[in-house]
Amino acid sequence: MNLPNDLVHPKVALTKNMELISGTHILYLYADQEKYWENIFSFTITGLELKHQVILLESAEKIEKIKQQLAQKGFSDEQIASIGFIDHCQFYNTYQSFETETVLQGLDDAVRHYVANGAPIRIWSRVIWREDVDCDKEIPLYEQKANAVLKPFHVFTVCAYDGNDVSANFSLKLMKGHSHIMTDNEITNSPYYESEQNTPSLFIEDFLQEKVQHYKHLINEMPDAVFIFSAEKVVYGNYTALKMLNCKESDLQHATIWDLFTKEYHPLIYENTEKLLRNNRVPLEEMKIKTYDGQILDVEVATFPFSFDIEKDFTVIAIIRSIQDRKAHQQLTIKTEKLSLAGQLAASIAHEVRNPLTSIKGFIKLAREDAMHDAYYTIIEEEIDRIETIASELLVLGKPMSVEIETCDAGKMLKDVSMLLQSQAVMRKIDIQYSDIEPDCFVRCNAGQMKQVFINIIKNAIEAMENGGVIRTSARLNGEKVEIVITDEGKGMPESVLKKLGEPFYSTKEDGTGLGLMVCFNIVEQYEGIIRVESTVDKGTAFTIELPLVSV
Ligand code: ADP
Ligand code: MG
Repeated sequence: MNLPNDLVHPKVALTKNMELISGTHILYLYADQEKYWENIFSFTITGLELKHQVILLESAEKIEKIKQQLAQKGFSDEQIASIGFIDHCQFYNTYQSFETETVLQGLDDAVRHYVANGAPIRIWSRVIWREDVDCDKEIPLYEQKANAVLKPFHVFTVCAYDGNDVSANFSLKLMKGHSHIMTDNEITNSPYYESEQNTPSLFIEDFLQEKVQHYKHLINEMPDAVFIFSAEKVVYGNYTALKMLNCKESDLQHATIWDLFTKEYHPLIYENTEKLLRNNRVPLEEMKIKTYDGQILDVEVATFPFSFDIEKDFTVIAIIRSIQDRKAHQQLTIKTEKLSLAGQLAASIAHEVRNPLTSIKGFIKLAREDAMHDAYYTIIEEEIDRIETIASELLVLGKPMSVEIETCDAGKMLKDVSMLLQSQAVMRKIDIQYSDIEPDCFVRCNAGQMKQVFINIIKNAIEAMENGGVIRTSARLNGEKVEIVITDEGKGMPESVLKKLGEPFYSTKEDGTGLGLMVCFNIVEQYEGIIRVESTVDKGTAFTIELPLVSV
């Protein structure tokens, strides 16, 4: 972090870039009137800006001058009136004799009066004494006692002495009673400060450094990974971040935000950065990061601006939490659900297959007894056909474990299927139109399974159009998706049927298996797609399949 220039080379000792900590007692030995003026003025306006209670002990003449200058600087009457102005000649009782106890009582009264306001108090006092006061003895004693008076109020105090008027011996004594020593241009810890406490930190540099160290420590120990990015570059990663990425601190030196996240999330990161730049919040996002040993991790990312310095590059802080466990759990739940579906399915299959088997068994018994009628063979054949159909439809479901998944052109497959079914359709006075198929509709799937989906839906469409008509199949690219639509002019479906689509063995057809659509839903879901159905009774039905587009 760069410190303001005037802090490193202060023109005057007291600047706005200084954090004045309560309990600090500064001995100011001034030499240059102009610099004295700048220091007291800086002390006052900083106090007003920080809403501190400022108390100034100065000459009546200087007090007037300060009031005027503050008004010129644009401070309101109210702000100026809030300052506790005390005539220092009166305060130090220079009209009579300097009596430590009386002056201390005055100090105590003044502070008590203002402490009631609740604001931190800063006092500036130009100390004067009468010629006849034994400075060497009285003043150091006074300062030491003043420390004790001020300590419980946690005030910040500057005691200004005319440097030209103070002997070395005297100033040494004064240093023992002050935590810091200041000249017109510089300020430093007092090496002679006699206190049981450590000297309070004064410079904003030390103060900030201390704060920064504190926060760094806090951030470093956080159980979530914390990254700070500045103009895309990684400028910081905490301990958990290094552990998550499996890398060393030096590995991050040349890393950018784009190295961290997998490519598919780059557009989202662009979008969110834009939002942050416009001062909008971004939601918690699920993304994937790449570790240095080549793993891909599921993570949850919270991002917000971290603009320590607005004029510098845009800085963002990202808190990243691994959600591997949660994802694994989700996968397990899906798997369990699938298993329970398989269980349900098994029960209904048993039921569906049992009926034809029972009748076949009955006929075989008849055959044994030589009571078999010729017509019964036809029934046996029909029943066996039914079992065969059920078995073949279900075969597709049973396969996913072993099938090969590749990048396929969904449009091309749809066209192939449409052409294949055209001959069957023509016999029913149906025309399948497939002119609206875009090239490069690439999806990840098993070609056999996806064709099965198209076949099942087109077959249903053919079966729904008893009086012929047109079936339109189309495949289009729609953003990140491939959209396949199969529309028919068939009898449509009422709500009651629509609700049950995909349930195993739900069929309104006499010879239907009620397995076609269940298989379709299952396959499409497996490839992270969805099927939407829109239907109007007596008008027709449209099946829309959406699948994620993959780039090749
Ligand atoms: P099946 O075709 O063996 O009956 P499906 O699972 O393929 O089984 O379809 C279930 C039910 O959904 C069908 O019986 C039918 O009532 C309805 N259905 C499916 N597609 C259409 C369609 N294009 N038009 C009208 N009804 C449909
Ligand atoms: Mg069907």
